[in-house]
Order: sequence, then C-alpha cells, then structure tokens
Amino acid sequence: MTTTASATPAIQVSDLHKYFGDNEVLKGIDFRVDQGQVVCVIGPSGSGKSTLLRCVNRLEEPTSGRILVEGIDITDPETDLDAVRSRIGMVFQQFNLFPHMDVLANLCVAQRRVKKRSRDEAVQVARANLAKVGLSEKEKAYPAHLSGGQQQRVAIARALSMDPDMMLFDEPTSALDPELVGDVLSIMKDLAAEGMTMMVVTHEMGFAREVGDRLAFMDGGVIVEEGDPRQVLADPQHDRTKAFLSKVL
Ligand code: ADP
Ligand code: MG
Repeated sequence: MTTTASATPAIQVSDLHKYFGDNEVLKGIDFRVDQGQVVCVIGPSGSGKSTLLRCVNRLEEPTSGRILVEGIDITDPETDLDAVRSRIGMVFQQFNLFPHMDVLANLCVAQRRVKKRSRDEAVQVARANLAKVGLSEKEKAYPAHLSGGQQQRVAIARALSMDPDMMLFDEPTSALDPELVGDVLSIMKDLAAEGMTMMVVTHEMGFAREVGDRLAFMDGGVIVEEGDPRQVLADPQHDRTKAFLSKVL
C-alpha cells in the first residue's frame, strides 16, 4: 500500500520563528498535531501560545520556518491561503459573533459567502450544528441576549458549519463566568470524541488531562516540555513547567 492520507499530520510546524519588531516571540518551535488528535497548549501569559496558533492559519506571518497544514506548505507564497483556511475552524477567547445578526444568520453568512451554499442548505447545516451545541431554541436570538457560554457555543457551531478538518481554540473559556465553562468544555469533549482534530490553548488542566492526547508547555517562545498530559501534569520534568503548574494546579 502507498502512504494513506491519514498518515499526513494535520499540522506540522518546523523551526518556526516569529518576531514582532525586535521582539522574538517564537524561538524555533517544532510542533505537530496528528489527524484526530487533541493537542493542548499551556503556558504563562505572553509565552507565545496565541502567536503560534495564529501562525497556523496565517493570521500572523511567520518570520521563518515551515508550517504544513495537511501536507500543504502555508508559508509558500504560491499556496491558496483561503483554501487552506477554509479547512481550519477558529474559536477565540472573545466570541466575535456579528452583533447585528441573529444566531442563524451568524451561522449562515460564511457558508453562503465562502462555501457558496444556497440559503436552504446553509440553514440546514446551521440548524444541525446548533442542535449539536444544544442551542436550537436560540436561532432567532441576537448575541447580546445570550450568555457568554451560549455565545461561545454559537461561535463553535459557526466554525463547525464550515465543515472544517480541524479546530483551533484559543482560550475558549477564559472570558466566561466559572459556571458557564463546563458547558463549553463538554461540547469540546464531544467534538474530540467524534474524532475532530483539535489544537487547544487552555488553562483548563482538567480538560487537558481528560481529553488531550498530548500537552505542550510553552514559556518564553519555546516549547519547554511536551508529552502525555497525565504524565506532564503529574510529573513535570523541567523546573519552568513545575513552577508554572505549582501556580495553576
Ligand atoms: P500568549 O498567548 O501566550 O499570552 P502571545 O502569543 O499573545 O502570548 O504573545 C507573545 C508575545 O508577543 C507577547 O510579548 C506579546 O506582547 C507579543 N505580541 C503578540 N502580538 C503582538 C503584536 N501584534 N504586535 C506586537 N507584539 C505582539
Ligand atoms: Mg493568548
């Protein structure tokens, strides 16, 4: 047999460097997410987690290094970035819903514009994904009338409506009141159980331990330590990891 598509990593980052001006915020990152894997990234504020995530779909321009998404080099100027981005769903800390659109319209607009779906098809896909996040009854609601947790679930449903091959989450529960965090994490857990490929920047160590296939600890623009989440959390090898975990656990 020849190599199957599933052997191609979903994301492969090699020797990635990123400067903002003179400030080197990513200092040679090697990082990989295999298809169907959930990889969590933890680390102190300012360590470069968001920058790494944002480089993966070129919301940030890497200074040097290589990033392959499903084997396609997104740092190559010849690459059709829109085509690659359409395979990647992004969910941010701030939910970024369109405030002047109801929930259903929020879920349809990119499907119509980017996927060129008919109105009927877009609505059908939107409703299926709203059901998945438990918000079918909110399709006519405006974002301002939803709780933060509901808005984040809508944002997840919106990303899923584009049929992404993988989902990137940047601290999806950090802006939520504590009692709303669980609902969002449980949807992410369901997604993982369905086999979605996920890269998750998070401070939720319980999620990382329970759902993560791998855990990377970042500090100062490098991945200090990486491995099985249960092992890294229970028995960190590096002093910087120990110091960080002693503060958050
Ligand atoms: P984290 O997500 O781990 O908190 P970030 O990736 O957001 O870290 O930031 C890493 C470093 O890069 C920080 O020092 C931050 O100030 C800097 N940084 C991030 N985005 C920008 C930007 N657009 N312009 C300049 N500096 C930035
Ligand atoms: Mg961040």
